[in-house]
Amino acid sequence: ATKNLLSLEKLTVLGHGNGGTVYKVHHKKNQTLYALKVLRFNQNALDISQQAKCEAEILRRVDSPYIVKCHEVFDDNYSESQVNGGSGISFVMEYMERGSLHDVLREHKALPEEVISVLAKRVLGGLNYLHGMNIVHRDIKPSNLLVNDKGEVKIADFGVSHVVKGRFEASDCSAGTRAYMSPERVDPEKWGGENADEFAGDVWSLGVLMLECLLGHFPFTDVGQKTDWVTLMCVICSGEKLEMPEKASREFKSFVQRCLEKDWRKRATVGELLDHPLVNSKSCPSSSKELLNYPKHC
Ligand code: ATP
Ligand code: MG
Repeated sequence: ATKNLLSLEKLTVLGHGNGGTVYKVHHKKNQTLYALKVLRFNQNALDISQQAKCEAEILRRVDSPYIVKCHEVFDDNYSESQVNGGSGISFVMEYMERGSLHDVLREHKALPEEVISVLAKRVLGGLNYLHGMNIVHRDIKPSNLLVNDKGEVKIADFGVSHVVKGRFEASDCSAGTRAYMSPERVDPEKWGGENADEFAGDVWSLGVLMLECLLGHFPFTDVGQKTDWVTLMCVICSGEKLEMPEKASREFKSFVQRCLEKDWRKRATVGELLDHPLVNSKSCPSSSKELLNYPKHC
């Protein structure tokens, strides 16, 4: 239905990211809104175009209610991307009306545990699906979780994702957002990263994100302070257990502690976490209307 990019009318810019822009677009014929992510690169940026092709390949393969749907991928021939002699890839995606969890946190500051449990359950559903297909996301963080008008949370942005060939293989430590990176990726020598299970890195990032939602700020650095990488690296990679916020319930603490186990061998797997009482109970639904309780500007 979205076969032709020219039939998409650009309305606004939804966000900027590494090497790309995401637009809100309107498909005139079928009267539907989509999000259009346009990645541009020039000929000498081979690695970027390789990664974009990988993102396209993953998006073509995945189909899950926990993952932002990609309806169409356009390679190279999009006229606007030809400016500057470069080429590009465009993705026509399901439009997530409420933007990212990063936007939600900016409005709400902190979220109640019940809401965080709902979103954790959604992310686990998505990771369970991806890991089952040997895909590691590698960039789970608030700006990559999107919310729709039903209060459903879905995983987006496969810009640094990776298809694991052997279960254990050397991982590329440069990919992903450093603040959410697991100890074995930040300091592979100390934490046995050379032969680490790559999937465990996504679980770590989920733990960091949940603490951020509860506290209303990034958990490992002082409020208001700029994230200083050396300090952060020490917190992530020291042998000390991370302290859980006092206000958290016993169940919340135990769940997040299982995610933030520094030794990846002891860290919970997605399968184990799906059985945890925090998410595996009738009181944990699969969407949260409370995520809609804030004014949306764009
Ligand atoms: P970043 O480096 O911040 O992760 P990125 O280049 O990887 O950015 P995306 O994460 O895909 O790009 O998108 C950037 C932003 O655009 C998101 O944080 C979100 O606010 C917005 N956005 C992306 N996709 C959608 C969508 N399907 N619906 C609504 N908004 C979206
Ligand atoms: Mg992103």
